[in-house]
Amino acid sequence: MPQNMCRQCGAPVTNLVCEYCGTLRELPKTAANEREALKEFHDILMRQEKKERIKLMKHGYLPDSPDVLVMSGMRMLTLIDTENPADEAVEAAVTRLKAILAKLRASPEEDKQQKAIDEFEQALAEYDIASKKLNKGCTYWSIGIAIFIVVILVILSS
Ligand SMILES: [Zn+2]
Repeated sequence: MPQNMCRQCGAPVTNLVCEYCGTLRELPKTAANEREALKEFHDILMRQEKKERIKLMKHGYLPDSPDVLVMSGMRMLTLIDTENPADEAVEAAVTRLKAILAKLRASPEEDKQQKAIDEFEQALAEYDIASKKLNKGCTYWSIGIAIFIVVILVILSS
């Protein structure tokens, strides 16, 4: 029964979205179809283990209709934890939000979605700041440890 197999990975698909790779069983015909598929995608996302969730966010289904894209972006906003910018699941949510943003910007309804676009850009900018701060923190630590080692060596050799 080929219609019940995933187009992407060949796994059996019982509903609209493949649980293994997040691909849609068939292309949605209307925005309502997309909304339904997106809901299912997010349900699968929440059910999965972290490793699978990361894979789904990176490679899973991205809607086409701007309204549904905005809905999907809003869900990603809740997953972007600026307290843990290096967390792989947070990075995956950021990757997905960037893809959503790029699609929204390219949409003919870009103006209508401006508010959401602004909000997504703001969240990504905040994430960037948090992530840079973390990297800076790591650099200070490495410098501190290097100085400490040098001091110990100097003391030992004197
Ligand atoms: Zn699949």
